[in-house]
Amino acid sequence: MSQKTTTTDWERQRLEMVERQLYARGIRNPRVLEAMRRIPREEFIPPQHRHLSYVDEPVPIGFGQTISQPYMTALMAECLELQGTETVLEVGAGSGYHAAVLGALAARVISVEILPELAAYARENLDRTGCGSNVQVVCADGSLGWPPAAPYDAISVAAAASDVPPALLEQLKDPGLLVIPVGPSWEQELRVYSKRQGRVFVRTVTFCRFVPLRGKAGWE
Ligand code: SAH
Repeated sequence: MSQKTTTTDWERQRLEMVERQLYARGIRNPRVLEAMRRIPREEFIPPQHRHLSYVDEPVPIGFGQTISQPYMTALMAECLELQGTETVLEVGAGSGYHAAVLGALAARVISVEILPELAAYARENLDRTGCGSNVQVVCADGSLGWPPAAPYDAISVAAAASDVPPALLEQLKDPGLLVIPVGPSWEQELRVYSKRQGRVFVRTVTFCRFVPLRGKAGWE
């Protein structure tokens, strides 16, 4: 028998992850659960770490960056209440996995990545898996948003800022939802900003730990 992990093994691990890490912890949005049952997360992880594809923690993707824990991806996606018609901005494409999940939930995703190597990596992963037909990866400083495709129905930020970058709130539609980790490097609050009738409301969902947001409205 081959020692290689087969498609069926990956599928089994993926379904188990959705049951034990997502559903068991309260993720209930059926479209989020379905997307994460379907998208091959193992294809978004570098070969040397592939055995960690379904562990309950962040995994290195190179350049000091990580792909978030599956639960965090699910929770953030759930917070955006996507119906399938939206244009979404993601800041921090990394591996492209989170962008693939958002692509399954919305009409169109623009995912901005500041590191050219990771922008190329995300593009490759999205193309290889066939998950990227409605996802555009852009190499730029996402702390300034991405004006050419603004405004956005929803914005998802995958790196931690000291405060929400003003450009992101400006590029959010009314109504619109934005999810972002805010706080110092050792721990942040995951916040949801909701723009409604010209006002912005904020709630804190949980505590979390993300890599720092760089760029003009980031940490450096
Ligand atoms: N969502 C990713 C994980 C992202 S890790 C995934 O599913 O794999 C955070 C990413 O944000 C890193 O790739 C990092 O390079 C990127 N990043 C940090 N600051 C950024 C900025 N100002 N603009 C765009 N990307 C940024």
